[in-house]
Amino acid sequence: EVSVQGVSKSYGSLRVLDDVCLTAPAGSVTVILGPSGSGKSTLLRSINHLERVDSGFISVDGELIGYRRQGDLLYELAEREVLQRRADVGMVFQNFNLFPHLTVLENLIEAPMAVRGLPRDEAEGLARELLVRVGLADKAGAFPRQLSGGQQQRVAIARALALKPKVLLFDEPTSALDPELVGEVLDVIKELARSGTTLLIVTHEIGFAREVADTVVFMEHGRILESGAPEQLFTAPRHSRTAAFLDKVL
Ligand code: ATP
Ligand code: MG
Repeated sequence: EVSVQGVSKSYGSLRVLDDVCLTAPAGSVTVILGPSGSGKSTLLRSINHLERVDSGFISVDGELIGYRRQGDLLYELAEREVLQRRADVGMVFQNFNLFPHLTVLENLIEAPMAVRGLPRDEAEGLARELLVRVGLADKAGAFPRQLSGGQQQRVAIARALALKPKVLLFDEPTSALDPELVGEVLDVIKELARSGTTLLIVTHEIGFAREVADTVVFMEHGRILESGAPEQLFTAPRHSRTAAFLDKVL
């Protein structure tokens, strides 16, 4: 479960997250929509503690992100503990962010060995299982540049899964892809959704959201303007700003 409670963040005088509250139950799929600059990436990055919030709390399965509670006080975690905790929150980016000088298999085993302390043979066994799962069993020895964008993104998803995260965050996972490659990546994400992985996904793929999301959230100016089941939000948005946005992307 992901819980975001009253989270705010500013860059200088710009309030990028403004009292955001959001709960994503374990196994649920949440799709986050909103115009450019509305704070979607900042929200995901905060959940992964790549950004430090100014106020409010974020927890995953009851564990605070970036902090430890002692009595009434909160203490910021040391970098090492942050890395451990961050392993529970996988993130997949628009531009894949694979290590270019490592093979697919090496990309998948690096973090499980370094962060989770898995021995190499176990890490490799897990990596090969995950490559089967994303349909790339024959690409273990390839380098990222030898793969299509869709294949690279599927490797990135496998790499995130290799840490056995409690939650997986996707920031526009298909928007850098050629149109004909979008489907293969969405299919992998759909399979994860069916298997009960907790997912938070920023995407403009409305058809996908309709099919897979339990909850759709609409953000604007750092606020959650409304959220609801896809059926409700897409057919009868409560807010005129949501309707105007949907008119543009549908
Ligand atoms: P997009 O759809 O274009 O990806 P977004 O909803 O993901 O937009 P964010 O990337 O979260 O939006 O950015 C929200 C706001 O915060 C924007 O106005 C952006 O310019 C600003 N911002 C983001 N990162 C920084 C930063 N490191 N320093 C200053 N301003 C930033
Ligand atoms: Mg963004």
